[in-house]
Formats: sequence, structure tokens, C-alpha cells
Amino acid sequence: MSVTSLLETRGLKKSYPQGKHSVEVLKGVDVTVDKGEFVAVVGPSGGGKSTLLHLLARFFDPQEGRITLGGVDLRDLGPDRLYDHLSFVFQDVQLFDGGVLENVRIGRPDATDAEVMAACHAARCDEFIRRLPEGYETPIGENGQRLSGGQRQRLSIARALLKDAPVLLLDEATASVDPEAQHEIQEAISRLIKGRTVIVIAHRLHTIQHADQILLLAQGRIIEHGSHDELLRAGGLYRDMWALQTVTQ
Ligand code: ADP
Ligand code: MG
Repeated sequence: MSVTSLLETRGLKKSYPQGKHSVEVLKGVDVTVDKGEFVAVVGPSGGGKSTLLHLLARFFDPQEGRITLGGVDLRDLGPDRLYDHLSFVFQDVQLFDGGVLENVRIGRPDATDAEVMAACHAARCDEFIRRLPEGYETPIGENGQRLSGGQRQRLSIARALLKDAPVLLLDEATASVDPEAQHEIQEAISRLIKGRTVIVIAHRLHTIQHADQILLLAQGRIIEHGSHDELLRAGGLYRDMWALQTVTQ
């Protein structure tokens, strides 16, 4: 009996144009994610991690290969059905020049004010929102310029909580946020990932030690794949990255 996994990529290739040429940044990536799994994508900067998640969120399509969700090619799924199943929290959070409440409500347009506020509370946004001049009605400026990076990210987490989709794509912040904000973001993320299928780009390896799968993506290829313990035993790049983070922390 063949069991279809929830999310699969096969032979995924993606190039970006560069002048008259193009540069291939994903060179044939195969990923298989089962329902309920916590999957971490790690690797050196420029390795293609964000490109992979942007493909999964269908910001654009691959030049070659395919992505299926529940056995259906994303290109055949249609945006409405895709985004019923999938939400994402990326670093370049899209905010518009409206009030805070309306910016979070995008996660689920028919949500009541009370539901939006509950999501903000769970995402640890409540306190900073209440300190804004007009609270939840405060216009947050084009692209949220009035907010810090950590605050924008927590709003994006609130949106995803409100949306409550079963599959979550998450790009952990690299931007320097102060330790207290970092703690709050981590708490909001813990709430968000609970009970979902998660694919996360992680920079701090201690947050993914218990991942079901770790994919090490470097120069557009998955060069190591396994659990934390398996990758440590393999003694490759992951082990070196782990050793480096352990001594510098
Ligand atoms: P990572 O998230 O692992 O740092 P990215 O997927 O962001 O890697 O980038 C992979 C490579 O693709 C990098 O060399 C980056 O400069 C390039 N790249 C990413 N986005 C674009 C883009 N929109 N246009 C052109 N090149 C891009
Ligand atoms: Mg990235």
C-alpha cells in the first residue's frame, strides 16, 4: 500500500536571473514531510533555505520538479485551497498601512475583534499594542515602520494563530532582537507550532534538537539529512555547526 505523505518535493530546481544569465540556487531538492512532523532546514547563508520555503508557499514556481500537498500539485491546487492549508511566518512580514487590528485580521477576515485580540494575546503582542497611542486602532505605518522587527514578527505570528492552518512554514528571525524580545518571540512560536506540521528555517540549532527531520541545505542541495543525533554521529557539517554554536553560546 502506498501512503501519500502530506508535503513532498521532487527534483526541485530554482534559478534566479542574473544579468543575461541565471544562477541555479536549488539544484534538485527532494523533501518528504508527513502529517504532524517538525522539520528543520538549516545550513550556511545563501544555501537556498528561504528559496525553498518561498517555493512551498508558492511565491513562485520551480523551473523544474514539483511540489505536492496531499498528493496534489500546488499548481493545480489554486491559491484559496493552498492557503486554507498553509500559513507562513517569514522575515519580510507584509503589513499594510492600516490599524493593528485589521493587519492581524488578514489571517482570517471573518474573525471577530475578540478573536483577533485573543490571537494577539497568545502571540505576546497584547502588551506593546496597548502601549501604542490608539491601541488596537493605531495605524502602523507603511510596512509597519513604527514597529520593531520583533514586534512585526509577533504580529505575523498572531495572524498565523488566527488563521489556524494545519501546515506552517516558519523562517526564524536572524535580525538582532534584544534577549527579552527573543524570549517572547520564542514563546509565541512555541504556541504557534503546537499541533501543526511545521517546516522551520532555524539558525539556533538548540531550538531544533528534537526535530523529526533536519535537512542541511548547502549550495542548493540537501547534503545531510536525519535526526539531530544521527547528524551528530555522521560527523559532517552539521556536527561542526553544532560544535561551533555550543562553544560560542
Ligand atoms: P538562505 O535562505 O539559505 O540564506 P536564499 O534562498 O535566501 O538562501 O538564497 C539563495 C541564493 O539565491 C543566494 O545566493 C541569494 O543571493 C540568491 N537569491 C535569493 N533571492 C533572490 C532573488 N530574488 N533574486 C536573485 N537572487 C536571489
Ligand atoms: Mg534566508
